[in-house]
Amino acid sequence: MRIACVGGGPTGLYLAILARLRSGGRDEVVVHERNARGWTHGFGVTFGEDLLDDFFRNDPAGAPALRRASRLWSDQMVRIGHLKPVHLGGKYGYSMARVTMLALLTERAEQLGVDLRFGSNVGSRDEIDADVVVAADGVGSRLRSARTEHFGTTVEPGENRYVWLGTDRSVDVFTFAFERTDAGWIWFYAYPSADGASTCIVECAPQTWAGLGLDSAPAPDGLRLLESIFADALDGHRLLAPAAGGAGASGELPWLRFREVRNRTWRDGDLVLAGDAAHTTHFGIGSGTVLAVQDGVALADALYGTAGGPAHARDRIAALSAYDARRRAQLAPVQDMARRNMQWFEHAGQRLDRGEDPVEFSWALLDRRGDMGRLHYRLHRATQIGPVRQVRRTLTSARRVRRAARRGERGATG
Ligand SMILES: Cc1cc2nc3c(=O)[nH]c(=O)nc-3n(C[C@H](O)[C@H](O)[C@H](O)COP(=O)(O)OP(=O)(O)OC[C@H]3O[C@@H](n4cnc5c(N)ncnc54)[C@H](O)[C@@H]3O)c2cc1C
Repeated sequence: MRIACVGGGPTGLYLAILARLRSGGRDEVVVHERNARGWTHGFGVTFGEDLLDDFFRNDPAGAPALRRASRLWSDQMVRIGHLKPVHLGGKYGYSMARVTMLALLTERAEQLGVDLRFGSNVGSRDEIDADVVVAADGVGSRLRSARTEHFGTTVEPGENRYVWLGTDRSVDVFTFAFERTDAGWIWFYAYPSADGASTCIVECAPQTWAGLGLDSAPAPDGLRLLESIFADALDGHRLLAPAAGGAGASGELPWLRFREVRNRTWRDGDLVLAGDAAHTTHFGIGSGTVLAVQDGVALADALYGTAGGPAHARDRIAALSAYDARRRAQLAPVQDMARRNMQWFEHAGQRLDRGEDPVEFSWALLDRRGDMGRLHYRLHRATQIGPVRQVRRTLTSARRVRRAARRGERGATG
C-alpha cells in the first residue's frame, strides 16, 4: 500500500511512523510538509500521561527520546493580580517545545524509511498518487476546504482573542495569571517548554483586546504592553514573539480566535481527515496533540490491525470507513467538553468583575468541565494549607512514578 500524509505535524508524522512499523517496512509512506525542515508555528505544548502511554505502547523504540525531551511540571497555580496565589492540587503534566517534538518525530520517521518531502505545499488530493491520502494539514486544511460540502465542515470561531507567545522566564509551575486593566481582564497560561524558556498564551475578550490597542499595535509595542501588564506574574521577564514569519503581514502579533472545526464525515473515497483538519479542541484543555496522535493510532489500527497483532492490510476503503465512524464518535464528547472549557474562559472576566473569592474562582476554573464532586472541592480548599499541599504533592509524585513504571519507562523520576 502507498500512503501519503499531507502535513508534517504530529498527526502526519505519527501516522507515517506507525504505517512503516505496522507494515513491517513494506508500505511506501510519504509525508508532504509545506514548511522547510525545522520550521513550525507556535511555542510549547503541554500534555498528560496518556500521550506518553501512547508513545510507549505504539513505538517503544522511539518513545524514550520523546520522554527525555518532555519537561515535567508538578504544580498548578492561579494568580489574580496581587492577591495571594491559589494552588490547584494533585495536578501535574509534561510539556515540550513544538519544534522539539516535531524534530524527534521527523528523526524517527526518517529512521524508519518514511519519505519526507519538506517545502511540498499540496493543493488538492489529485496532486498525489497514493492508495490512501491522509489530510493532516491542520486547522485550515486545504484538502478539506476543497471538499467542504462533502465533509460537512463547520468552523465556529470563539469570542476571545489569543496569542501564542514565549517568555524567557523559566516557569516550572503551570500558571494561570489574571490581570485587571482599564479595558477589562486579560490572562495568560504559562508552562515550561525548553531550558530557560516557557510558553505563554495570552487571552482576553475582544473589547479588552481593542481597548488596549492590541488589535493594531506593532509587535514590539504589543509585547512591551503585555510585559508591563504581566510584570509581576512574569517577574520582570520578557515575552518572546513567534519565530520570523509568525507576525502578521503588517508586523503585528499573530492574535487569533480559536476555531472549532467539526466535520459530518472524515472520509471521501481514499482521502481521510485526521488531527486538527478533522476536529479542533480549545487549547485550554491541552489535548490537541494527544488527540492527533490517537487519530494516527486509530487509523493504523483500522488499516493494519492493533499494535502487537498481526499486520493484515484489510480492504482499505472499509478500513477508512471504520476509522471514520469509530474515531468521529469518540471525538464528539471531547469536543463538547472542550467547548464548555472555551466558554468558561469567555465568561471569566465577568466572574472576576463580581469580585469572586480567588479560592472559589480557582475552584470554578478547576471544575470548568463540570465533572468534579464535593470531595474534590474540600480537597481544593484544604490544598491551600501548606502541609496538606505537600502531602498531596508526595502522593501525586508516587502515582506518577508508578504510571511511568507501568508503561516501561526505566529510571524516569523527573
Ligand atoms: C495556542 C495553542 C496552544 C496549544 N496548546 C496545546 C497544548 O498545550 N497541548 C496540546 O496537546 N495541544 C495544543 N494545541 C493544539 C495542537 O497544537 C494541535 O492540536 C496539533 O498540533 C494538531 O496536530 P496536526 O498535525 O493535526 O496539525 P498541525 O500541528 O497544525 O500540523 C499541520 C501541518 O501541516 C502543514 N500543512 C498545512 N497545509 C499544508 C499543505 N497544503 N501542504 C503540506 N503541508 C501543509 C503545516 O505546515 C503543519 O506543519 C494548541 C494549539 C494552539 C493554537
